[in-house]
Amino acid sequence: MGRIYGEHGMMKIAENNQVAQLESLLEGAPVAIAVFDTDSNQTLLLNDAFRQSFGYTKTDIPDINSWYTKSFSLPHAKEHILQPWLAQIALDNASNRPATRIETSLRDKNNRVRQVSLSLTLFEGKKVFYVQDITDHLVIEQRLKVRSNMLEMVAKSSSLKDVLTVIVQQVQRESPPSLCSVLLFDKQGQCLSLGAAPDLPGFYSQAINGIKIGPAIGSCGAAAYHEQRIIVEDISTHLNWHKFTDLARAAELNSCWSEPIFSSDGLLLGTFAIYNSPSPTPRLKDIEQIQFASNLASIAIENHNAHQELEHRAYFDYLTGLANRRSFFELSSSMLQQASALKENCALLMMDVDHFKKINDIHGHDHGDLVLQHLARNSLVNLPESAVLGRIGGEEFAILLPDTDRATTLEVAESLRESLAADGLTSHDKQTIYYTVSLGVTFSCGMHCYIDELLREADTALYKAKQTGRNRVCTFNDC
Ligand code: GH3
Ligand code: MG
Ligand code: MG
Repeated sequence: MGRIYGEHGMMKIAENNQVAQLESLLEGAPVAIAVFDTDSNQTLLLNDAFRQSFGYTKTDIPDINSWYTKSFSLPHAKEHILQPWLAQIALDNASNRPATRIETSLRDKNNRVRQVSLSLTLFEGKKVFYVQDITDHLVIEQRLKVRSNMLEMVAKSSSLKDVLTVIVQQVQRESPPSLCSVLLFDKQGQCLSLGAAPDLPGFYSQAINGIKIGPAIGSCGAAAYHEQRIIVEDISTHLNWHKFTDLARAAELNSCWSEPIFSSDGLLLGTFAIYNSPSPTPRLKDIEQIQFASNLASIAIENHNAHQELEHRAYFDYLTGLANRRSFFELSSSMLQQASALKENCALLMMDVDHFKKINDIHGHDHGDLVLQHLARNSLVNLPESAVLGRIGGEEFAILLPDTDRATTLEVAESLRESLAADGLTSHDKQTIYYTVSLGVTFSCGMHCYIDELLREADTALYKAKQTGRNRVCTFNDC
């Protein structure tokens, strides 16, 4: 008996040695492994790679059910993913087929969602799970998709808001429950306007739309001002946010990292913000993510701005900012049509700078340009708001006055002529350059008139003004 006991004892020691060897092998394996006892459901092993990747220890997960509950806590994950998979494994095992692998989402101890490839082996009364973290791999794949999707949208001239929304949604998908926004920088107003923030509360987006930038204005206002990344880990205590804590609390926002967006030549275009990021302080991965997003946003915004600039050039005069010949014709044609339907009288004025060639000759072409800009600015100030003013030639301007009569029109024309003659502009060498204009006026007399016909008449009247001494107003017809 003693021998038998002895033999059993020897076998037990050998067995224990094997288990210990196996455990140490699994412990050091480069893939995350979790082993549970099939009968008792007890956790037997969470290897080093498992603990490192997902943060759980045996204390957190004493048995298989606590692992299922903690890891498969995304909505419906247990019923729709885990249980059908386990049922399939039981079938595979019964018919000696290799076990099916699944790709699914798990929550780690820090509540981060991780994409994993999961497989299970049933082995000598044990369930051995191999968990491969494929989050980074999937993120890279998704980013490449989003990038090409976005470039296609840019090429197809989708709206800037739609393109930016695609970028925002990608970042939000990568790091739930974070929320993102893109704000666009307005250089003239030194403020930020809303580019896209599809999931931030509407009242919050409205409140920050148009916000002035400044050294300590929230995260985005400060990031735009300093042109550098601003990390605010706790909005409720950060000085930059003290004016906005109530607003942020109402929107349930607790952290905000903001990255400036720059154009390819280094000009500030806007900011990309990530609110409520799952990790309190950004890690290298988070920095890479926000840089990826702001680089994509930069392509979209730069392209949009270039597009707008081209459109602007097609309709506005580059030197004075006034409507160019083409848009003056379009605008005034539609206004003339409306006026004839309402039987209203319109007036068309042509204005030409007197002896402009001499101004160029005496003061130089640059100063000639300044005269044209000065004239455009002052005319806008002196004309009624309803007037349409356009630069239709080198130093020729046209004005359409809707719903007017002869006396009012002549008053407007005279006062414009006088104020331009009185108000010279200061040259680079502090000389005052005075200039005068001549004006030709014609009236639609309540009839339907075409713009080119009215321009011909106003030009005849302008010729009269030039012939009779310049710096004066002449009319084509009386009505
Ligand atoms: P008038 O009183 O008869 O109108 O004489 P004028 O010298 O103003 O007219 P003219 O048609 O002889 O000359 C117009 C000049 O305007 C010639 C052209 O070089 C100049 N000009 C046209 N466009 C521009 C511009 O954009 N900038 C400048 N600086 N000059 C321009
Ligand atoms: Mg002239
Ligand atoms: Mg001329």
